[in-house]
Amino acid sequence: MNEVSPIVAASSEAFDVQRVREDFPALHQDVHGKPLVYLDSAATTLKPQSVIDAVDEVYARDCANIHRAVHLLSQRATARFEEAREKVRAFLNASKKTEIVFTRGTTEAINLVSHSWGRSSLREGDEVLVTELEHHSNIVPWQILCQQTGAKLVVVPMTDRGEVLREAFENKLSERTRLVAMAHVSNALGTVLPVSELIALAHERGALVLLDGAQAVSHVDVDVQALDCDFYAFSGHKLYGPTGIGVLYGKERLLDKMPPYQGGGDMIRSVTFEETIYNDLPYKFEAGTPHIAGAVGLGAAIDYFSSFDAELIHAHENAVLHYATEALKAVPGLRLIGTAPGKVAALSFLMESAHPHDIGTIVDAEGVAIRTGHHCAQPVMEHFGIAATARASLGMYNSRDDIDALVAALRKVRELFG
Ligand code: PMP
Repeated sequence: MNEVSPIVAASSEAFDVQRVREDFPALHQDVHGKPLVYLDSAATTLKPQSVIDAVDEVYARDCANIHRAVHLLSQRATARFEEAREKVRAFLNASKKTEIVFTRGTTEAINLVSHSWGRSSLREGDEVLVTELEHHSNIVPWQILCQQTGAKLVVVPMTDRGEVLREAFENKLSERTRLVAMAHVSNALGTVLPVSELIALAHERGALVLLDGAQAVSHVDVDVQALDCDFYAFSGHKLYGPTGIGVLYGKERLLDKMPPYQGGGDMIRSVTFEETIYNDLPYKFEAGTPHIAGAVGLGAAIDYFSSFDAELIHAHENAVLHYATEALKAVPGLRLIGTAPGKVAALSFLMESAHPHDIGTIVDAEGVAIRTGHHCAQPVMEHFGIAATARASLGMYNSRDDIDALVAALRKVRELFG
């Protein structure tokens, strides 16, 4: 990894991580009799008290269904739900609220596009481009779509450092590419893809681009207008918000033409047995009662995140990542998987004599929570000829102390496994 720049180091000092940790109640507990060290934020982030309170308040006070009743509770719940949509719009810098569709998460957002846009637009011989480092959520929906339409799934290979290079991408783009679906940031490797450059190339060939932003939203700046992506998907629970709520951003002119994804209440303007007129955007894509408290909680998470200078959060995390990279490299017999320059937030690794699941179990007994397995990215594992890795991943609340605890726990692994 590159040296940490003096600016990054200085701004990291300006970020008061101890103060931030106070906001996250889950951090203040013992596991197996040891203070919890949470290094699994790529799976889900912990939640600040303000998010927990916001969700609580919806159920305790503003508990009503939305968009349907005239009574006051329903009006309050509707207002809070729609305020959350506006917060998401501002967070992504989308130009309109109509471009923000609430979903269950990244997975559902991607499935929405594959069902709605994909089934109505793809023909036999068309191509959908993904990269080798995708999460299964950004592979399987496209595979199913290709099976159903006769389109072809084309894969851009990555390098042994876990990078997706422009040249490899260009080689796989063709006149038949209709959609590029790629991660903004890889969950297994931490690679940040050069998405601006790749989006421009895709657009030159007339292909649309969907970005899987699940791992990006909390670690890099996202501006959907500057990126010019056509679709952007993310999950609230990876941005310090609740589970079960996520977002699909789509350009209005595309969403407008797409057929509904699911039918039901709220997505209609009128229904007769002869004909149904669909509702306006974004409601056309929000059939049924949504996760109202989840959306409000996501709004609170965005408020919380935005109460910091994002540059300071990123600089702090990058400084901890740099510290962790050097510390792990110094552990005898440890091999890092994923070493792309400019990577963020996640460290996948192997140890010579211990299986990743054994590593995970032993460090857990020391109070250190990390992830082990294929991280829903089996093609990444296949690239490296392995079945699994251990992965430590960072959130804004992690400090160098957490890394020291991880390294101490890894010493125990070495003692037991040699
Ligand atoms: N894509 C990436 C890159 C992810 O890391 C994840 C979650 N691990 C997903 C998609 C799926 O997100 P969710 O399970 O919240 O829908």
